[in-house]
Amino acid sequence: MKDIRIFLQDELIAEFEKMGEPKFRAKQIYEWLWKKSARSFDEMTNLSKDLRKNLQEKFVIAPVVEHVVQKSKDGTVKLGIQLQDGRMIEGVMIPDRERSTACVSSQVGCSLSCSFCATGFLKRERNLTAGEIYDQVVMLNKHALAHSGKQLTNIVYMGMGEPLLNYENVMRSIRLITSPDGLNMAQKRITVSTAGIAKAIIRLSDEGMKFNLALSLHAATDEKRDRIMDINLANNLETVFEALNYFYEKTGNKITFEYILFDHFNDTPEDADALIQLYNKVPAFINIIEYNNVEGVTLKRAKAERRDEFVRYLGKRGVEVKVRRSRGKDIDAACGQLANKSEAGEIK
Ligand code: SF4
Repeated sequence: MKDIRIFLQDELIAEFEKMGEPKFRAKQIYEWLWKKSARSFDEMTNLSKDLRKNLQEKFVIAPVVEHVVQKSKDGTVKLGIQLQDGRMIEGVMIPDRERSTACVSSQVGCSLSCSFCATGFLKRERNLTAGEIYDQVVMLNKHALAHSGKQLTNIVYMGMGEPLLNYENVMRSIRLITSPDGLNMAQKRITVSTAGIAKAIIRLSDEGMKFNLALSLHAATDEKRDRIMDINLANNLETVFEALNYFYEKTGNKITFEYILFDHFNDTPEDADALIQLYNKVPAFINIIEYNNVEGVTLKRAKAERRDEFVRYLGKRGVEVKVRRSRGKDIDAACGQLANKSEAGEIK
């Protein structure tokens, strides 16, 4: 049976027309599914019993299940989420003074195998559906409300997987999250983070949408980037930066460069100079990210003094730069640490 949540509103209306049901019924059901997050047809109390039975015979609602909840000392919450087929993913809620950010996964595992990333060690099993991405946001929103009494303010597609390799479902999920029939969040509150797939960046620039784009840069020359991110072999910096400029032209949104500082790998003044050269190629901000050492990875977190020196060096040269402190380290919820350990029983 088909998952009813794969349909956009217009598609659902067309399905209902085929069933001889009026358009407004499809709209009612759409509202139950997305606005009210109904998890069974029985909850849809303004539908007749016959229609509910009919729907049950034709469709399923395939919800995800909150399987493990881990809370960090700093308030960060990591969820181990079980999908209908039993596979697991992780989503994270990061509270900060005025903000609560949801970091969502877009794939089960990841095919890109960046050398520093725990998710890259898991093989990519499948793409998430738009509904599964949406459900993570709904769940993480509940935790944001429980923590601070306030809704999520931001969503970043920076969890497990490369969002642009699950292009259709990621775009569909953004449309649902920002739709008045869904969560009605502003597009500017959403950031999609990519390892750098030039063709897909060009495609999304033409979507007429206004969300933000982040590039997981982590090294500022092809020579170094090739060593830690295989994706750079097929999408070198020149190609990616052409695509980023196109994105900026189309959206007017500055690009965020995510740059994890690794000890004695990319933290010297020469590295900072190479980074400044890239910074001057497209309107951008730089986020310097603290790495959390991952077992089996030779790259290590840069020392605090080297990090501070690196940031000062950039700042003095007029670069807009911020250090993103690591959050949720004690529960392996920080950047690059999502690896379904809770599923493996390593964390309870
Ligand atoms: S950093 Fe992102 S793209 Fe690279 S392996 Fe990890 S999840 Fe995949």
